[in-house]
Amino acid sequence: MMRSQYSLVIPIYNESENIPELYRRVSAVMDRLDGPAELILIDDGSRDTSLKQIRALHQQDARVCYLSFARNFGHQVAVTAGLNFASGEAVIVLDADLQDPPELVSEMLKLWRQGYQVVYAQRTRRHRENWFKRWTAFWFYRLLNRLADVEIPPDTGDFCLMDRQVVNVLNTMPERSRYIRGLRSWVGFSQTAVYFERDPRFAGEVKYTFRKSFRLAINSILAFSGVPLRLATYLGLLSAGFALVMMGLVVYWRLHEPASRLIGYTIIALAVFFLGAVQLICIGILGEYIGRIYEEVKGRPLYTLKEVVGFQTTSKPPPESS
Ligand code: UDP
Ligand code: MG
Repeated sequence: MMRSQYSLVIPIYNESENIPELYRRVSAVMDRLDGPAELILIDDGSRDTSLKQIRALHQQDARVCYLSFARNFGHQVAVTAGLNFASGEAVIVLDADLQDPPELVSEMLKLWRQGYQVVYAQRTRRHRENWFKRWTAFWFYRLLNRLADVEIPPDTGDFCLMDRQVVNVLNTMPERSRYIRGLRSWVGFSQTAVYFERDPRFAGEVKYTFRKSFRLAINSILAFSGVPLRLATYLGLLSAGFALVMMGLVVYWRLHEPASRLIGYTIIALAVFFLGAVQLICIGILGEYIGRIYEEVKGRPLYTLKEVVGFQTTSKPPPESS
């Protein structure tokens, strides 16, 4: 059997309404490619008929191979698994809900052939997503860029093309709290953007709940920035400065305005509350980092697989086993 030149990686979580249209559009794109291609579908523990539909697709089209997780592990982990199993020279990651137009792939491939090793899709507009999502996304990317040690291009998602060399590097990164956009920037290589307008979901509900998005945002900041840890130092300095000013004031009042009422219980109570809050916040931040260290140290596999079907190299050792 011929080795695939191109791999398309698509994570799927309860996307039954989208799968037929997704397959129609993606396979049309694959038909036009100049080399053999594989379509890797990752069922992230779907509870609807998605897995059944994926099995049927594999039956009718040998280019379709799939993984099925034993439970829901989340989008970032599903993409990671897809990258672990992809064998193409160029690997393209896209969403199942057709918010990432598969037709953009040909443009990405053009840039890849020019020598770019990462081609990420940057959104110029988002169609019909609510103001809250747009607003939070807008500010989140700006905040992340201020805090992170690597430059992560704003308004990019996981929709991208990666060269084999980049995928190999990503596959050696064992970290658990995965933020693929960040890792993809972190690795370096020659990167470029293609621009697109993000379409609305073809069908179905958003699978990223607010909670999942929030976790992802926190993960990304903690994984790529040590700034929150330094917050304790800054706040400590700030309250020390505040205390010094207060001391000066107390002396001044004692000498010039002995009747002043400000030096009373109020100010003591305020100081206690303020310092208590500062300390709790800092302990919380430490806790977030320590929790992540604990997760990494446990060294559990990133995902558990219940089905691995259709791959050319079946004797592949289970990834992430080290
Ligand atoms: N997804 C997944 N596991 C999850 C949540 C989402 O594999 O736990 C997939 C989902 O099926 C879709 C992609 O990740 O293909 C993006 O999800 P969604 O469209 O809900 O999020 P968006 O990025 O549009 O906010
Ligand atoms: Mg979507």
